[in-house]
Amino acid sequence: MTKIGLEIHCQLTNLQSKLFCSCKANYREFAPNENICPVCAGIPGSLPRLNQEAVKKATMIAMALNCSTPEKIAFFRKNYFYPDLPKNFQITQLNIYGDTSVGGSGTISVGGKNIRITRIQLEEDPGRIIYEGSSSKNQITLVDYNRAGTPLVEIVTEPDFETPKEVRDFLNILSDLLKNLEVADPSLEGAMRADANVSIHGGNKVEIKNIGSFHDLEKAAHFEITRQESLHDRDIPISQETRHWDDKRKITISSRSKEEDLDYRYFLEGDIPWVKINPEIREELKLKMPESINSKKERYMSKYKIPAQVADVLSSDKFYSNLFEKAHTKSNAKEVANIITTELMGLEDTREKRETSKLTAIHLKELADAIQTGTVSRNSSKNALHEILKTGKSVSLVISELDLGNVSDESELLQIIDKIIIDESQAVEQVKSNPQTINYLVGKVMQITKGKADPTLTLNLLKKQIGV
Ligand SMILES: [Zn+2]
Repeated sequence: MTKIGLEIHCQLTNLQSKLFCSCKANYREFAPNENICPVCAGIPGSLPRLNQEAVKKATMIAMALNCSTPEKIAFFRKNYFYPDLPKNFQITQLNIYGDTSVGGSGTISVGGKNIRITRIQLEEDPGRIIYEGSSSKNQITLVDYNRAGTPLVEIVTEPDFETPKEVRDFLNILSDLLKNLEVADPSLEGAMRADANVSIHGGNKVEIKNIGSFHDLEKAAHFEITRQESLHDRDIPISQETRHWDDKRKITISSRSKEEDLDYRYFLEGDIPWVKINPEIREELKLKMPESINSKKERYMSKYKIPAQVADVLSSDKFYSNLFEKAHTKSNAKEVANIITTELMGLEDTREKRETSKLTAIHLKELADAIQTGTVSRNSSKNALHEILKTGKSVSLVISELDLGNVSDESELLQIIDKIIIDESQAVEQVKSNPQTINYLVGKVMQITKGKADPTLTLNLLKKQIGV
């Protein structure tokens, strides 16, 4: 059996400032070493000041992942020497005096399976090392501290994943959740990084470090399982080791460095006192929490009887679920959900198309109502939707301009039906002995009216004229 555990690092990219100073959290817009101050550059004598917003956002992530949140949190120094770490220690969290990280243990359901979260901690990102030069002879090493001190949330899971697909499903849920909470934009380069541990058949655990994107995390897990299976098949022992992910060659490579065996000599960070998170603050954060994707899905299914698959697609897309919330009424909810998931999402399949679309929630509501009252058929509504996206004209105007309205005038329909009864006398006889075959005649009416005849009215009139 395969076991995969994850350690995921997410930058809180939507914050204004770094974790312990007022430099910008968005370091991406600066030239190298322009977004630094004595605190994040580790100048002796400078003192960190904790970003309260970062603690609140990290607590919200913990709550959204159903993790416990402690009354008091503490920060620790993790000591190691590396050029990207200006202080020679990283300020992070550790649970040696009980649960003092922003998030304790919790569980999240992924495709019906429970994945246990071990803990969630808040820490600072180091700077970045950049290698320049083409060969080892002329290679130089540069370091940029703009990123040093950026708020980072680390999410550690138990080894509960059994396939790379489960890993991907979890990452999709996590990515949606971070966007939904408005704490991070996971699509930014370097905003999400991960380590994974993989073992098969109860064997040794292999750590994979340095995975730079969600996309690569699934690939890395896949590669590592295949590599271990191949060793296992040839009775070669799998050694417990750390491997690095090579994102160019898309393989894992054994890491020869001893850096992983370091004793980090953790101790309490004396420059930051323990932080008490008052129950009122936790209540306030709970109230601010947007509805989770899962509970939104449940609500769509139970309140409006929207099918699970449609509810799933709708609830996991923030843009369209917002549109749904504005457009639906209790009676047309199912129809609105149907238009969005079967038509609209296909027509607006890029961000650009969404942004230039002229469609509003009012259009959507009116179109759903028009289908329900029989003013327009579901088929013709597709053409109407197309036109509305381009022009923004009202639903009633589009229906009349494109002549999409249903033929619901009884005398007009009767004329058509009477002619069909004469032309299709054989089919009419068949209906008399087998009433089910009446659908053929309904089809004929639809053909002549180009699908615009009111289906219920057509059926009733046909029955009446034939006498069945
Ligand atoms: Zn700074």
